[in-house]
Amino acid sequence: MSNQPEQNAWRPQKPRGQLIVYSGPSGVGKGTLLRPLVAEHRDIVMSVSATTRAPRPEERDGVDYHFVTREQFERFIADGEMLEYAEYNGNYYGTPRRFVSEQLDLGRNVVLEIEVKGAMQVKKACPSAVLVFVMPPSYNELRERLINRHTESEEQIKKRLEVAVEEIRQFHEYDFVVINDNLEDARDRLLCAIRAGRLVTRFHENLIEEVLELC
Ligand code: 5GP
Repeated sequence: MSNQPEQNAWRPQKPRGQLIVYSGPSGVGKGTLLRPLVAEHRDIVMSVSATTRAPRPEERDGVDYHFVTREQFERFIADGEMLEYAEYNGNYYGTPRRFVSEQLDLGRNVVLEIEVKGAMQVKKACPSAVLVFVMPPSYNELRERLINRHTESEEQIKKRLEVAVEEIRQFHEYDFVVINDNLEDARDRLLCAIRAGRLVTRFHENLIEEVLELC
């Protein structure tokens, strides 16, 4: 029998990935900021949400969202398959639990692009999640962006702006704020926030307490 130490036994296990909650008012440009980062950095992946909202012309099922009926969505909820969910402007939106936990186990950083009510559920259920909020540079700019993307009716834009104000009021629940004033700069800041997630004080409490106990 070999008395060689077990190979690699000394190596620390690959750390679990970081869960990143990513919110901001509708029209602020969350997807435009995030998509190139996901394409460029293989350790960052986006969760694909389920929704009962109708697909927009350019959206693909299974890529942008899993588009489902209200009955299907309610079954997912009943079966405990949703990590979080919320109703937003009359439609359900939610994060399927399985993909997120599989990816975290593989050491990938998983971004949930979700509205504030769902974000607060994740904050409670997963205290190790990092929360990032994207802000428009001004209210007028947000309104212009929603109007110019031509995906919603005037009535829907009005509702989205009302929800936006309510969401912005809760910015203090988030660890980081990224102002989307200039795409390139905002993207750099978003990547910094994702990377800095591992440094947030509350994730190091156990280690620091252990060190202090030995002092
Ligand atoms: P939209 O209809 O513009 O695609 O999304 C409307 C809002 O729902 C956005 O703020 C978006 O971030 C949020 N949203 C998308 N997916 C989810 C989800 O899985 N859960 C929750 N709570 N919100 C989501």
